Amino acid sequence: MTNAILVFNSGSSSVKFSVFGIGENSLDVIIKGQIDGIGTGHTKFIGKDADNNKVAEEEITHLKEFSLLFAHLLEWIESHDSGAKIVAAGHRVVHGGKEFSKPVLITPEIIEQLEGLTPLAPLHQPYNVEPIKVIEQLYPHLPQVACFDTAFHRTQDKLSETYPIARELTEEGIIRYGFHGLSYEYIANLLPYIAPQKAKGRTVIGHLGNGASMCAMKDCKSVATTMGFTALEGVMMGTRCGTIDPGIILYLLEVKKMSVAEVSHALYYDSGLKGVSGIGNDMRDLTESDDPHAKEAVDLFAYRIARELGSLTQAIEGLDTLIFTAGIGERSPEIREAVCSRSSWMGVDLDDEANNNNELFITTPESPIAVAVIPTNEELMIAIHVGEVVDIEGYHLSKDAIFAEIGK
Ligand code: ADP
Repeated sequence: MTNAILVFNSGSSSVKFSVFGIGENSLDVIIKGQIDGIGTGHTKFIGKDADNNKVAEEEITHLKEFSLLFAHLLEWIESHDSGAKIVAAGHRVVHGGKEFSKPVLITPEIIEQLEGLTPLAPLHQPYNVEPIKVIEQLYPHLPQVACFDTAFHRTQDKLSETYPIARELTEEGIIRYGFHGLSYEYIANLLPYIAPQKAKGRTVIGHLGNGASMCAMKDCKSVATTMGFTALEGVMMGTRCGTIDPGIILYLLEVKKMSVAEVSHALYYDSGLKGVSGIGNDMRDLTESDDPHAKEAVDLFAYRIARELGSLTQAIEGLDTLIFTAGIGERSPEIREAVCSRSSWMGVDLDDEANNNNELFITTPESPIAVAVIPTNEELMIAIHVGEVVDIEGYHLSKDAIFAEIGK
């Protein structure tokens, strides 16, 4: 029987999982799936095999509580005849605060520490910790590892982390933590096997999904990033505003008399592509639409990314490689074209055909700045961390060997 690592990426409305079988030179997905629409009344579970074929589909109406839903999911994973024995689990945890700069083996003390970080990410952290607690209860002997979205950015220097606010607030922990670290880390590990010389240089990665951020790296280490104290700052997102004048928030509270909960909802769920277009947050719908508000939303999205690119380029004093990743970054030639054409002044010479074909490099060979499209894989990054942190019998894989294989 193959030993396997179970990986979770849990949010407030969805739980995604993947089971990775431990192979000779690789970690390979055996089964994966997700529960979507938690708390909406339309909760649905879908399970898929390694070839992405649907092997299970279920509307879940009888379970409302997150912990019960999660236990139900675990039951399915256990009962599913995948020919694998789960020997460890890994979790994406949004916030590791200042304390955690690398993945950590879960203990009761660590769970307490993670819960203590909830005020820094009240909308995400509880949903990351809950699955850890459910597994701890149901499978007390299964080793679990927490992998943090903030950890990759702990290489930022003090200047990049500091907001120009009162020193006491900074010392209290109001600093730029940055997020999407597991995605950036995956690409930082892979880049040396795709483009060894470029990897040593100055790189900006645009992780453009429903949540979106950008990261500037030197020698594959995070130097600056667009998300900050929370995952609201930076580029415009699917439903989040990104950077806005903080005075707008005061205006909403003081003049429009909105409650804190209403303002929070407006900034997290009713802004970004959805707010500007008035249509929705799915980039596919917006690029296909004739509605002028959809076009405005798409234009603003690309404009804000290009502006942040300028700022990050300054932070690393030049740019050798720009990388697009995540849902929009990997699949939208329109957005990549819009960002790249705004950046032609700095030396981006797009190859339209390569861009339209989603090729690995989408600039001309002469382009002073290379632009690449690299699919991210946060789940695999978590599984690799689990293999490193947990002493799994018979586990001989090295991170380098795994990335060398992917980079081939
Ligand atoms: P997240 O992990 O943040 O939920 P993803 O990285 O999966 O998000 O990206 C989701 C987004 O990617 C969707 O909102 C959609 O707008 C966009 N997307 C997916 N496929 C395409 C496509 N073919 N063209 C343009 N955008 C796409």
